[in-house]
Amino acid sequence: MSFKAQVLTLYPEMFPGFLGHSMAGRALENGIWSLDKVQIRDFASDRHHSVDDTPSGGGAGMVMKPDVLAKAIDSVDNHYPRLLMSPRGRSFNQKMAHELKDGGGVTLVCGRFEGVDERVIEARNLIEVSIGDYVLSGGEGAALIILDSIVRLLPGVMGNNQSGEQESFEAGLLEYPQYTRPQIFEGRSIPEVLTSGNHQEIEKWRKHRSEEITRARRPDLYSIYEKNNRKA
Ligand code: SAH
Repeated sequence: MSFKAQVLTLYPEMFPGFLGHSMAGRALENGIWSLDKVQIRDFASDRHHSVDDTPSGGGAGMVMKPDVLAKAIDSVDNHYPRLLMSPRGRSFNQKMAHELKDGGGVTLVCGRFEGVDERVIEARNLIEVSIGDYVLSGGEGAALIILDSIVRLLPGVMGNNQSGEQESFEAGLLEYPQYTRPQIFEGRSIPEVLTSGNHQEIEKWRKHRSEEITRARRPDLYSIYEKNNRKA
């Protein structure tokens, strides 16, 4: 069954964007996933098709109107989780990518301006999701990034299925260093073990390097990994 992505945005022409290329683009053409784009502005009812208004209580910028956004949300297939792109949201991660993939579809709501009226978040059970601690000008880039992380997990999208399982975050660790030919690059050699043909030693080396790198760069991930792998 095909994975169904529904995107609500004021800029539908930004989709599929880079997901129209390479592996994700081929998968889209082959029907492994589908993309429905909804122009939120189509649900505005006034003469000027307004989608935003000034913030209640004053302050800078504009806020997306709840009535218009609710109508847009009600127009799509509502069997799937509804995510609102938001810097206030829970941090998106690989585990969430897997869960969304397993759910068969997702609705992604892209904010603009200062964000959306709080009441539509409550009334439509929007799950606020952030792609990191920085502020973008709109949710479209975040939605594309989330979709990318899901689509590449779909069966038949990645060439070598094994490559998924060994990647960063899958085992709670960052990936080990990768090398390819030439054997010597600017005086630097490929670590000998990798060209030894001894697969057991290669696995050991990779795991060790993964642990070292994770401990040094992401102590937060490493302490979780340690806890999960501590012998009972
Ligand atoms: N005033 C808001 C920021 C609005 S940015 C605040 O201070 O929290 C405009 C839109 O960009 C948001 O509604 C959201 O959809 C999107 N966006 C910005 N940063 C994001 C992030 N880190 N993750 C996901 N979406 C983000």
